Amino acid sequence: MKYQLAAVSTPASDTQQSLCLFFPNARYLFGIPEATTRMCIQRKQTLKKLRGAFLSQATDGGLAGLTMSFADSSGSGTLNVAGPEGTLHRVAGMRYYNKRDQLKVNVLESLIGDRCEDALYSDEFVNVYGVTTHPIKSNESYSSSSPSPSRSQSPSHSKRNNMSYEESVEYKRKIVDEIFPGLLPSNGLDGSSEISTPKNGGDAVEDIPSRNDAKLSRRLARLPAPRHPRSDAAASYIVMGKPMRGKFNNEVAVQLQVPGPLRSKLTRKETVTFQLSDGSERTVTPEQVVAPDTPPTVFFIVNIPNKKHITTLVQSSAWERHRQTDKPHILVHNVGWGVLDSEEYVQWIKSWGPDTHHLVSSPEYTANNVSLPSSFLSLKRANVLSDAFKAPLYSLDAPRSLPETLTSQVKIEVLDKHHKAELNPPEAPSVQPTLMSGLPPGFDIRRETTEDELLKQGLSEKSWDNYSKACEAVKEEVCKLTPPERQAGDDVVVTTLGTGSALPSKYRNVSATLLQTPHGNILLDAGEGTWGQLARMFGERSRNTPPRDGDGDDREDAWDVLKNTKAIYLSHVHADHHIGLAKLLQLRSKAVGQENPVTIICNHLIRTYLLEQNELEYLGIGRKVKFVDVEALLYNQDVAVEKAGYRKLQADEAALNLAALRQSLNLKDVKTALVKHRCKCHAGIIESNEGWKVVYSGDTMPCENLVESGKDATLLIHEATMEDGLEETAEAKGHSTIGQAIQIGKEMNAKKVLLTHFSQRYSKLAQSSESQNGTMVIAHAFDLLSLRVGDLWKMSHYNSPLSFLLAQEVAGEETEDVIEEEPVEKQEKRSKKSRKAQNKEKRKPNSLFDTVHESNASDQQQSKKAKV
Ligand SMILES: [Zn+2]
Repeated sequence: MKYQLAAVSTPASDTQQSLCLFFPNARYLFGIPEATTRMCIQRKQTLKKLRGAFLSQATDGGLAGLTMSFADSSGSGTLNVAGPEGTLHRVAGMRYYNKRDQLKVNVLESLIGDRCEDALYSDEFVNVYGVTTHPIKSNESYSSSSPSPSRSQSPSHSKRNNMSYEESVEYKRKIVDEIFPGLLPSNGLDGSSEISTPKNGGDAVEDIPSRNDAKLSRRLARLPAPRHPRSDAAASYIVMGKPMRGKFNNEVAVQLQVPGPLRSKLTRKETVTFQLSDGSERTVTPEQVVAPDTPPTVFFIVNIPNKKHITTLVQSSAWERHRQTDKPHILVHNVGWGVLDSEEYVQWIKSWGPDTHHLVSSPEYTANNVSLPSSFLSLKRANVLSDAFKAPLYSLDAPRSLPETLTSQVKIEVLDKHHKAELNPPEAPSVQPTLMSGLPPGFDIRRETTEDELLKQGLSEKSWDNYSKACEAVKEEVCKLTPPERQAGDDVVVTTLGTGSALPSKYRNVSATLLQTPHGNILLDAGEGTWGQLARMFGERSRNTPPRDGDGDDREDAWDVLKNTKAIYLSHVHADHHIGLAKLLQLRSKAVGQENPVTIICNHLIRTYLLEQNELEYLGIGRKVKFVDVEALLYNQDVAVEKAGYRKLQADEAALNLAALRQSLNLKDVKTALVKHRCKCHAGIIESNEGWKVVYSGDTMPCENLVESGKDATLLIHEATMEDGLEETAEAKGHSTIGQAIQIGKEMNAKKVLLTHFSQRYSKLAQSSESQNGTMVIAHAFDLLSLRVGDLWKMSHYNSPLSFLLAQEVAGEETEDVIEEEPVEKQEKRSKKSRKAQNKEKRKPNSLFDTVHESNASDQQQSKKAKV
């Protein structure tokens, strides 16, 4: 049986390393960074056959999104989630927002101090061993029997739940089983027809638990602390394919006259003796009739986030079994800054001898090339129309090249996102075309690619001509118009970082909108991958990707924008709105001092999620992160439900932190309004002392409360999940149609409405019967759209060329299967059988994701799929 290892993503501003091990009937992912789901969509990789997700660290940012996509792809099934110590804590931490009744999740933890003798995961195809490393300072000694992560457990943690370590493990396992119970579909026949609606997040948990409701109190209470809080543990993996049995040679067996019943003994490697017809005896050994077994192919995936992990890695006894036999064919090094400068590590690499192929992934040695070309090309073309559309920034030059001391002595190269390696029989890894959804296989942006080639990629000459002519006409038209009179708030820059709902797609990431005011930035929601979108928008100097146009060193890159973000508003605890927050805070806490805190305005569930995540990695909570509870800011205070003790405490804290925030952002006030969604969701109303007022709806159906609280808004940012005509579906899911969103804007007397949070079923521009009428400005959001509020009026003029462009792009995708079936991978000498299997796979539509995006899935099913 053939199987191969292939790259899914390499380190870049918006993602990190992920690899996939492919068997005809099973897939295993190693490394689940943010944007893993999006990368899989772009690369046409189905998640249906996924058996294992192996985390580099417990905090890998793509895990929640991956489990949701996996659950939605297969309806039922089991996913094994393996990772270092802390992984169980992480998965249990998903209980507010990631409940999937038909999914079963097995958490496999590789503990600090484990001797790694037993396989962490094993099935009929592979054995995977985990090697957990953790940082130690140079003067600490490492002993595999006595775990000694640098931080000790804080006493308050053990007091909190009064549980022993073993009890806390059992408790968290119970929670994981409650989130992912693996229930069978209730009719037991057809998995697709009876997908239970996930009762996510905040629905039930707002109630005070009764004393006997153990489940509910488990959901509400904070998790017991991990055994080694913030251990920064990482897991490396030793992966061994199962040895393949040699073939039985029937012809030889017949020649030797082996009687039928004895043949199975030979296949079991037993020697047999039998009588021939002439009465003589014959002995046949297995070697005579059975070909030798193929030894297992072994590869290592080594995850070393920083230099402090090196000692525990090289001193692990797990490697010793692979020194003489079962040597690694491939060794992938997923390493942080400076790791390859360590002499200790370089010696370890060299110790594997000349036959092992080494592949290196690192922000230091990997160029920050475009990860998601479909969205890149779309934005690049939109940019011809207006510079409000920003193509993601990238670089073809890595900060450094691999050191010669290594390249001259071992087979080593930088992992390319198109790297693949056949493992049975093992072949050297090579760069081969990868299937790309909507693009030619193997498409990549290379030095020789011209601007013109990029713009026309996947479009016909005629479509491009028509589009560019339309752009010229519109630009001229806009130029002639007199801009409206200046108003307060015109200079606030609004950047829509993610404009899709539920699951990300090739073109739209999940929710996040940035407001840049003269006094600092405010972020509205932060779905998975928000940091990546920021970094592609503003650049990262450390990755050789400086800020876009303009001049001088004072241009802000993504790190400056993040440091200058003073408030983050979270509307509700749904994954597409909040799970990118931890990554942002983790990065920000490294970049700022405590004199520059960020204020998180959120409900108590999101706060609990952050506090629990803060026990795995430092997010800055305490000095660098302040909280304001959304319920303390309700515009109609008297409606608030009083919760004894809790309210008073939150109100005092909110008053204190809000006062500081108002001062630093020059705000008059921040208020919230309860809106109508499937869980508690709060709209945010931000008013400046300079006379502007921005209202952010969060997820909601048309809501009177929002109209009232947002009266006379300068800008209403409103969700518009569904097209007009789907009011019923919108209501069933707790969302609005485009027309409803516009209507709310009118009732509110808003000056401008920015529509966002479009269902991913609309690859094209979503349609609405509402047109521009009256004086209210209406604009559709796109990912990485960025412009001054004062310029939003221009957007309506762009609709016609954009609609044309997006329709062409989508049409290009519809024919993509034809392109794929051409023999593009001639160089792969596959057996007829495996090619057949592969083609079968290719012909399937875009697998799980199509069921989510494409409009032909029935609305009812849609409503059952993703809770958004
Ligand atoms: Zn929602």
